[in-house]
Amino acid sequence: MRYHIDTIPVWDALKPDGECPLCFLRRRTEHLMVDRYLGASVMESDTRIQVNEKGFCPAHQHMLYAKQNRLGHALMMHSHMLHTQKKFAAYLEQATAAAREAAGQPMLKRLTRRGGAGSGDAARGIQALVDSCVLCESVDDNMKRYAYTFLHLWKTDEGFRKAVKASKGFCMKDTALLIDMAREHLNPAHQVTLLEALSELAEQSFNRTAQDLEWFTLKFDYRNADKPWNNSKDALERAVQKLRGCYIGTDPARDA
Ligand SMILES: [Zn+2]
Ligand SMILES: [Zn+2]
Repeated sequence: MRYHIDTIPVWDALKPDGECPLCFLRRRTEHLMVDRYLGASVMESDTRIQVNEKGFCPAHQHMLYAKQNRLGHALMMHSHMLHTQKKFAAYLEQATAAAREAAGQPMLKRLTRRGGAGSGDAARGIQALVDSCVLCESVDDNMKRYAYTFLHLWKTDEGFRKAVKASKGFCMKDTALLIDMAREHLNPAHQVTLLEALSELAEQSFNRTAQDLEWFTLKFDYRNADKPWNNSKDALERAVQKLRGCYIGTDPARDA
């Protein structure tokens, strides 16, 4: 698959000098989309259909809620709820029918028959309703586009390769994204140079972050109370970002 290439946001994401430029792009995309969903676009039928169908995951519900547009959020939840209630009821009916059918069977048959699949499928169906998120899907699509652009720059721009190598590296989540996209979009020779750089950045940045994090924990010892924090004040937040690709502290993309 080919993606539209827009190199400026990828270059810009390297500038904040954070722990992962792709995390920054993901977070910025999430903010833009949350604003869009709460804004006029929710009235567009395409968006409305998608929201009704998929809803939002807990993390994105929190983001929507934090934007303080209760009416926009409530309007989306109202139509999503009406839409979802029908499917929820159908799964409950399916599970009840399967249980009733099983209850009517003699004991031995009840243990061996496939009747349980009916309620198992229903439980999985309900779980799928809970797991879907229209925003996660859109953000993932956007991140593939950014990763594709990143790989294009890696392939074609010596200055970009230098800037990446001088950066603080990537989180594990986005390292996986880059490796996965590179399999499809980079030739083996370029994959080698990228993987060598990713390995080196991972080693350096994990060592640095782990060291900062250790000093952060040691600062809780009263004997170290008067010693300087060095770079460890935000080590916990940075460690979580490296490991999980999320911001638990300051959100650098909120006003970006
Ligand atoms: Zn990341
Ligand atoms: Zn989501």
